[in-house]
Amino acid sequence: MNIFFLEFRDPLFSIIVFFALIFIITFLSYWWGRYKRKEDYKHLDRFLKQFRSLPTQDELKELVSRGELSQKSWMLLAASYSKSGNYEKSIDIYNEILKQPDNKEQIEIMYLLGKTYFKAGFLERSKQIFLEILRKNPRTPQALETLLLVYEYMRDYKSALEVLEPLDELKKDVTCDTLYLKALELLNNAAVDSQEKTEKLIELYLKSRRMSYMIFEYLFRVNPKLAWEHFDSSESENLVDLLWNLPTDSLNMDVISSSSYLRELYTARGDINLSLKSSVFEFDALINLRGKTNATLSFEYICSSCKQLYPFAFHRCSSCHSIDTINVEFSLTKDYHRDFGEESNSFQ
Ligand SMILES: [Zn+2]
Repeated sequence: MNIFFLEFRDPLFSIIVFFALIFIITFLSYWWGRYKRKEDYKHLDRFLKQFRSLPTQDELKELVSRGELSQKSWMLLAASYSKSGNYEKSIDIYNEILKQPDNKEQIEIMYLLGKTYFKAGFLERSKQIFLEILRKNPRTPQALETLLLVYEYMRDYKSALEVLEPLDELKKDVTCDTLYLKALELLNNAAVDSQEKTEKLIELYLKSRRMSYMIFEYLFRVNPKLAWEHFDSSESENLVDLLWNLPTDSLNMDVISSSSYLRELYTARGDINLSLKSSVFEFDALINLRGKTNATLSFEYICSSCKQLYPFAFHRCSSCHSIDTINVEFSLTKDYHRDFGEESNSFQ
């Protein structure tokens, strides 16, 4: 029986005590870890429950002031609300964070709030926020750039042009913005007649040789004769959709016959017969199939800065807000107008 009896000083007793202690510690730490995880999960679940249905403004106020989430986390939440188009909730969060005392990132949050107001279409509120930021920190380029957009969307081109002065002082390139806003101000001025508009637009174009799409879109629509007089053939590819859609009686054969690209374009369209082939695949196909197929060109517009694709022409990209970055792309398509014309003739 002595074999089961261990003395206090027996080394085997120490080993058993040692392993028993290891077991107890391991068990306790495992149990404690499990308990903590369960508690954390319960806390997270309780917290997230508040967001499963969007919190009201009062609930939000309480949540922000309770300080359970850091300011950075609230800002991330506001940004994700804004990204998903829930601007109202994003605005509520920014407003509540701004009410917190001793906010070190006040200007940054005000900027985000102003930008969200802008995206949501509250232009007047957005303007007030940016003016307040600039009153405190006049040399804030991001606030100036967004305020410029706000004024442009409000069609207050005079104020937008004034914003360019401090941006110029901050060594930002404002050449294109100046030209674009001056052209917009002119085109939207009801007191100026179309003749004066065309003259001033040509003057703007000749000075800078920029914004050609915006300027020639107006010129070809209002005074094609004058447009052709100032037309630079090297711009043909950039303005291909405008040229393709010009009425036949608006064409200037002198200019067209002096440019191989224009000769190919109008031969492909079927107005003239001055080219036998073209290095542009679509023109070449149309020249070879002249009269034998019911095809035409369809156009798409790509921003060369952010590569956003648009089904319509633009002067300022609504995605990255760059100016004069329009790139016209075209492809062969079925001519539905001709189809419709033939069908309506068949009913006569
Ligand atoms: Zn863009």
